[in-house]
Amino acid sequence: MKNNISRPPIPQCEPVKSYATDTPERKEVQKMYKQAMSNFIEIPMWINGKNVKSKIQKKIFPPHNHKHAVGLYYEGSTEHVQSAIKAAIASKKEWEDTSWEDRASIFLKAAELLAGPYRQKMNVATMIGQSKNIFQAEIDAACELIDFLRFNVKFLYDIYTQQPESAKGIWNRLEYRPLEGFVYAITPFNFTSIAANLCIAPALMGNTVVWKPSESQIYSAKVIIDLFKEAGLPDGVINVIYAEPIMTSKIIFSHPDFAGVHFTGSTEVFKNIWKTIGNNINCYKNYPKIVGETGGKDFILAHKSANTKEVVTALIRGAFEYQGQKCSAASRAYLPKSRWKNIEKELLKELRTISVGDPGDFSNFINAVIHEKSFNKLKNTIQKVKKDKNAKIIFGGTCDKSIGYFIEPTVILTKKANFITMQKELFGPVLTIYVYDDKDFKKTLKLIDQTSEYALTGAIFSKNRSIISDALKELKMAAGNFYINDKPTGAVVSQQPFGGGRASGTNDKAGSYLNLLRWVSPRTIKENFVPDKNYRYPFLKP
Ligand code: NAD
Repeated sequence: MKNNISRPPIPQCEPVKSYATDTPERKEVQKMYKQAMSNFIEIPMWINGKNVKSKIQKKIFPPHNHKHAVGLYYEGSTEHVQSAIKAAIASKKEWEDTSWEDRASIFLKAAELLAGPYRQKMNVATMIGQSKNIFQAEIDAACELIDFLRFNVKFLYDIYTQQPESAKGIWNRLEYRPLEGFVYAITPFNFTSIAANLCIAPALMGNTVVWKPSESQIYSAKVIIDLFKEAGLPDGVINVIYAEPIMTSKIIFSHPDFAGVHFTGSTEVFKNIWKTIGNNINCYKNYPKIVGETGGKDFILAHKSANTKEVVTALIRGAFEYQGQKCSAASRAYLPKSRWKNIEKELLKELRTISVGDPGDFSNFINAVIHEKSFNKLKNTIQKVKKDKNAKIIFGGTCDKSIGYFIEPTVILTKKANFITMQKELFGPVLTIYVYDDKDFKKTLKLIDQTSEYALTGAIFSKNRSIISDALKELKMAAGNFYINDKPTGAVVSQQPFGGGRASGTNDKAGSYLNLLRWVSPRTIKENFVPDKNYRYPFLKP
């Protein structure tokens, strides 16, 4: 029996620690990093609250040290996929009948555990498994995930308290039921926080989940599971399988109780998922929700009124942090001719100070790209560009995989506005620059809008208000997250809801109530206190 209408705590964004020299957090993380690198852990799947092993073991190697195994995971088969679905369905009733306060408390507790004892475990796992430097790990695996955990509860409350009007003698209510069936979360390698949130968001709203992490994020997925366990998540609410994606999806997308997919990853994979769901539409009990955030070809545009150092800082941070492996990373830039020489000089000077290497060495700004496939793809592209007369590499271009998958930050200059690297997502530390004639600023806005199929993030740098205003208008549909005098990366939960349109996704804005709305199926309840007793309306009288 419930005798109160409670309100959750007012959330605040988790402060980012600095890890500056001599700080306690720096010492702690360095010690834990060393320990983890000399340990070897086993990672079972997690189905119905149990650790599940299989016959297939696969070793985990840090991308920056790919001959040194730090652990292994157990790969699942069709039976494991089926038992994860079974567990999600079996635990559904109890979970959706759990009061929202109890569901919320589990995730709020997880937030506090992550802000405290789990913080460096999660950071170190992300540094090792996904090759992030400590700052990139902190803003993702610690702060962003804590923010998702805390703010999702506020968004839930905001949604649940949205109630319809009631006319005299009537009480109308909206009940935000979870979806009927289970949710399938398919997650990318590049953000620990996104991987967790794709499960947490539907689960908080009363859904149960089958989660298939990226094969390149399993090392930190293990810490996420430990966190959920310690926070008290009941068995079967989130079920984690490490399995071949095509096989897994084939089983899940032909299950009648499949109720929705929460995906983040590449555009091509998402389009195939959509097609498969469409082809199987007759086998489902409901129309499944399809939520997917996908690729980007994100831009920085500088006007001649922009400040050189500000533009250069945005180019370096925006394009090269986490090796350009953020969906929001700037990978094409449009710079004015009158300022180009100046910007180029400053950019090259700053790039020469950047070092590339192991995240265990805190002086490295750039670490390894995620795996050999990505390394080879980037290396081939760079080699092709070297031979192409339409472009020239003005910085970087060195690729070395002898120890880790290291690619030097690379800057391409092209005279061809639709050069291949201005259009296609590469997902690595490669930035292409196009220098436009100052008088063609308006034409350049059109060019930016039409060069690529994506529309995720973009930025304008200018001191001129009417120029900013023109850019906002002309680039209205070119980016779901648009930045004025700031780099196009680093969206913060609750502050810059994240997602884009066109080939970049369904734009369901992670980090806002809009995403949580996708995981409910509202029921309207009308109660009539004074029902009519006669069908005849007054107009029927002669
Ligand atoms: P990916 O598409 O290779 O993999 C994503 C997930 O899909 C993984 O779990 C993978 O195992 C699974 N998968 C692969 N093939 C599949 C198939 N045929 N059927 C079902 N599942 C399949 O992406 P990635 O390399 O992990 O991540 C990088 C991509 O993610 C980039 O394109 C990036 O732009 C995008 N991304 C987008 C956002 C966003 O918010 N828009 C955020 C992060 C990453």
